[in-house]
Amino acid sequence: MELDTIAAISTPLGEGAIAIVRLSGDEAIDIADKLFKAPSNKRLTEVDSHTIHYGHMIDPTTGDVVEEVMVSLMKGPKTFTREDVIEINCHGGLVTVNRVLQLVVKNGARLAEPGEFTKRAFLNGRIDLSQAEAVMDLIRAKTDRAMNVALGQMEGRLSKLVQKLRQEILETLAHVEVNIDYPEYDDVEEMTHKMLVEKATYVQSEINKLLQTSGQGKILREGLSTVIIGRPNVGKSSLLNSLVHENKAIVTDIPGTTRDVIEEYVNVRGVPLRLVDTAGIRETEDIVERIGVERSRKVLKEADLILLVLNYHEELSHEDVQLFEAVKGMDIIVIVNKTDLEQSIDLEQVKDLASGRPVVTTSLLEEKGIDELEEAIGSLFFQGNLQSNDLTYVSNSRHIALLTSAQTSINEALIGIEEGIPIDIVQIDLTRCWEQLGEIIGDSVHESLIDQLFSQFCLGK
Ligand code: GDP
Ligand code: ZN
Repeated sequence: MELDTIAAISTPLGEGAIAIVRLSGDEAIDIADKLFKAPSNKRLTEVDSHTIHYGHMIDPTTGDVVEEVMVSLMKGPKTFTREDVIEINCHGGLVTVNRVLQLVVKNGARLAEPGEFTKRAFLNGRIDLSQAEAVMDLIRAKTDRAMNVALGQMEGRLSKLVQKLRQEILETLAHVEVNIDYPEYDDVEEMTHKMLVEKATYVQSEINKLLQTSGQGKILREGLSTVIIGRPNVGKSSLLNSLVHENKAIVTDIPGTTRDVIEEYVNVRGVPLRLVDTAGIRETEDIVERIGVERSRKVLKEADLILLVLNYHEELSHEDVQLFEAVKGMDIIVIVNKTDLEQSIDLEQVKDLASGRPVVTTSLLEEKGIDELEEAIGSLFFQGNLQSNDLTYVSNSRHIALLTSAQTSINEALIGIEEGIPIDIVQIDLTRCWEQLGEIIGDSVHESLIDQLFSQFCLGK
């Protein structure tokens, strides 16, 4: 494949100590060599692969020094894109980095499109599609856990599992072939039937398992939309503040993420919370009063988690009971706050209203009970399974859609097998399942889908 040389700033824009301009393609080394001058006058075209060199970037038309740099040189195919890659480490701010980028573009490189580096890695066969998407998720990952899931996927965990399932289906299809070709052998048929049921059941259960993780995967990607409710003065703002302060606000220096949105995220025991309408909660004492009962119902309905705050120092009011009714059937955690004050609330009554859902007592003033609250949040969403890092979570919506289709196909195949439907019809379902799984790893994807996927990437990746 003949591809031109592309270039982009591959570090986050903004105030970084170092910024990197990355080039990839056949001309990468020649272009860099034209512009780079080492104190020893050594040429980049003559150095070993995977080495780093100190020097200056010089504009050949003016002879001006543009920037003091370290240049990393990596010859393909042992690079991210499998092409020759040059990384120019600049230490100046945005202005100098851009000047270096312009310099390489003026001298033969083309500005990369969003995601084009990753697209090359895919086109050059270094990674499969689900791995490429994992890179994209990684860029967007908002918590350490989400980062681990993305990393796992990038390493090909999902790909491997999908490949294994496809292999199973292929073997099953082979048995079907035997059955079609040699129908006269009774024992072959019997064995085939048993094998068919076994293999198809296995594939079905693995797909089911993967899909079961997708709820968690979505949470990991998007954060759990969380609403704090409670009467005025119970401590909602204090709770919000303690959640934000206790739990490091989530990494913001990832390209493609906007700071104002990110600020509403906190990471509690690996569960990313997206505090919905945070500003509103900060400013208004009572969300129900502020936006009206109907609309607040809607906001509440769309929430994944409700933190319902009560006052330990006051008796339960009619309003409190109404709040419980408004969140019936939802995931809630009840927080009885201000335990540093004298008890007036009836905790038994609170537990009744909570009907089995967690009740935590806190004194936000004295910073007590916050651990228990975080524990409750963590176990609500991961059933205490936070350690099982080797789970393959499916969090990408395209993967979920394909797995769901594959699930339908395998279900139909199994029904067919069990009901003794003609084997060639079962074969069609199995083949479809095999194809749908293949799309996850990009085995049978349409070119335009590939373009669309990669255009979602950030520039420079
Ligand atoms: P909101 O109206 O529900 O947002 O409640 P705030 O968080 O604004 O708190 C109302 C008042 O209660 C403030 O003066 C807080 O300092 C105080 N407060 C919050 N948590 C506690 C607590 O645990 N104990 C005591 N004694 N006061 C608290
Ligand atoms: Zn408040």
